[in-house]
Amino acid sequence: MLVAHTNEGERVNLAENQDLLTLKRLRKQTKFFCPECSEEVIMKVGTKRIPHYSHNKGSSCTESYERESEYHSTSKLILLNWLKEKGLNPVLEPYYPDIAQRPDIGVRYKGIDYAIEFQCSIISEELFAKRSRSYFQSGIIPIWILAGKNISRIGNNKISLSGFHYLFLRKTDSDNWVIPSFCPITKSFINIHHIVPITVKNAFSTYQIKPLNKADLSTLFCPKFHGQISKYEWYKELRKTKDFLPQTRGAFKNKFLRELYTHSLSPIYLPPEVGLPVFQAPLIETSPIQWQSYLFMDVLKEENPFSLEKVISCFHKRVYKNDIKIRRLPLVCGTDASFAVKEYLNLLVNLKVLAKEGGLYKRSSPYSIHESQSWLLRKEEAFYHEKGMLIMEGIKQPGIN
Ligand SMILES: [Zn+2]
Repeated sequence: MLVAHTNEGERVNLAENQDLLTLKRLRKQTKFFCPECSEEVIMKVGTKRIPHYSHNKGSSCTESYERESEYHSTSKLILLNWLKEKGLNPVLEPYYPDIAQRPDIGVRYKGIDYAIEFQCSIISEELFAKRSRSYFQSGIIPIWILAGKNISRIGNNKISLSGFHYLFLRKTDSDNWVIPSFCPITKSFINIHHIVPITVKNAFSTYQIKPLNKADLSTLFCPKFHGQISKYEWYKELRKTKDFLPQTRGAFKNKFLRELYTHSLSPIYLPPEVGLPVFQAPLIETSPIQWQSYLFMDVLKEENPFSLEKVISCFHKRVYKNDIKIRRLPLVCGTDASFAVKEYLNLLVNLKVLAKEGGLYKRSSPYSIHESQSWLLRKEEAFYHEKGMLIMEGIKQPGIN
C-alpha cells in the first residue's frame, strides 16, 4: 500500500513527489499507521521496489495478506497519473470508514463516484462480491480491472475464462459486456468485449487494445465497441464441441450425456437450433449446448404448442436440480438468467424454427429423431448458410427486458 497516516492523522502518500532521501529521513522521525486497521506499518524504501508501506508479520489486516506486487503498484500509479492528466481528481487509496474499504483509486467522473480496483491476485468470490456490494450500497460504482497478465487468450477471437475472470464482467452504458483489463508493461487498456460463451470455460471475445496515450476517459468508464463473430467460426466451434462432448473424460458418468441418450439423442445428433449464441448467455454458467438441450428435451421436443411460462418453469426446475448453473456476476444488476431463455425463444421465432401464435409457441416442423448423421450435418450446414446472419444478429442486440 502507498498511503498511511501519521499519529496526527495526516495522509502520507508515497506516490507523490518525495525522493528516497526525504522519505528515509521522514521514516526516522515519524510513525505510520494503516488507515484500515490502525496498526503501525513500516515504510519500505529501497532501490528495487517502489516505496511502500508494509504490515508487521502476522498482522490480521486484510491489506497485509493481499501483499501487493510491484506489478500492482505500478499499474495503480500509471492509472492514477493518467486520470490526473485527463483532468480528473483521482485519490489514491481513499479510505471509506463506513464500509471499511479502500480501493486502489477513488475518482469522480461525470457526477458519479467510482472505485477502481486493480486486481492481480486471485481473491475469493465471496470477498469480491462483498466488496462490490458495499460500494454499490454507498452509491459508488466499482470498476474492477483484471491484470493484463491474467488474460488467457486463445487465438485472435477466443478466450479461456475462469469463474474468477467472470467476476470482472460488467455492462457498459451502451449495454455491452466487458471485462476491463490493463497491462502496465505495454501501458495499454485491454477491453475484452463481445463475450459469447461456447463452453463453461471457453468463449468467443473481441479485444479492444488502447495504449494510454491513445485512450480517452470513455475507454475506462463507458467504452463503446464494434465487432462481431463470424457465423462460420461459431458454427465450426459449435460442431467441434458437439463432436467432442462424448469423448470427454468421464463421459460415461456424465449425467447430461446419459440423459440425452435416454431421449435417443446424442450431442452429435442434436438439431442445429440447439447451441445458439444469445446476448445474455454469460448469465448462465452451463454451456449453451447443455442448457438449450435441457429445454429441448423438456419442452421443445415434447410439447406443441407450449407457453413461455412453461419453458421458464422448466428452466428454473433444472436450475433447482443443479443441472443448469447460474453464473454469479457481482457487477451486473437488474438482470436475470431467464432473460437468456426469452432471447433464445425469440431467436427461434426469428429463425422460423418456432412460430408464435396467440401467445403460444409452436414448432414450424415436427422434430424427427430418425435423421441420419450425414443428413443432419447437411441440414445444419444449410441452417447456418441460410440463417447465419440472423443467428449472429442475436448477440448484437442488447437483451429484452
Ligand atoms: Zn492494516
